[in-house]
Amino acid sequence: MEGFFFTEMQDRFSIIEDHVIEIKYFIELRCENCGSVDLKQEEDVLDTWFSSALWPFGTLGWPEDTPELQKFYPTSLLVTGFDIIFFWVARMIMMGMHFMKEKPFGDVYIHALVRDEKGEKMSKTKGNVIDPLDMVEKYGADSLRFTLAALAAQGRDIRLSEKRIEGYKHFANKIWECIKVCSDKF
Ligand SMILES: [Zn+2]
Repeated sequence: MEGFFFTEMQDRFSIIEDHVIEIKYFIELRCENCGSVDLKQEEDVLDTWFSSALWPFGTLGWPEDTPELQKFYPTSLLVTGFDIIFFWVARMIMMGMHFMKEKPFGDVYIHALVRDEKGEKMSKTKGNVIDPLDMVEKYGADSLRFTLAALAAQGRDIRLSEKRIEGYKHFANKIWECIKVCSDKF
């Protein structure tokens, strides 16, 4: 957050819906180098979702008519989570229709989300993310694969927790032991 300053204000008031309120703080943006407050907003940048909307052709050399664009636009299938249909998928279609005069993909496969054990979306900010690589290190790749496969079979969203992975590690171990016993006998 370099370049952002909270400045305490003295004797400043604002009128919001007929109420006079005192303003205590405001955010002032200043140049990191010279401290100037005479700033101009960048005009050649889109907001996150509008930038993402250009992805189906923006990644292929558009606005040039490249061989990649010829070959890969439109594509046949988009695979995505249901939570970004309006943020991203709808925007990609609208931008595709507008700039390319053609839809970006024929089909959209909408899949469920991997959530945490309480059903919350995993996020770095919340700190409830389960890193698959950590799980592989701890319980083995088979345990993780089996856990995800077993949970996915129920349909809808997956509620993943480390406990489940640990449980399926024991299950995988049982199978392994069975096979060992069998192969020793025969
Ligand atoms: Zn400056």
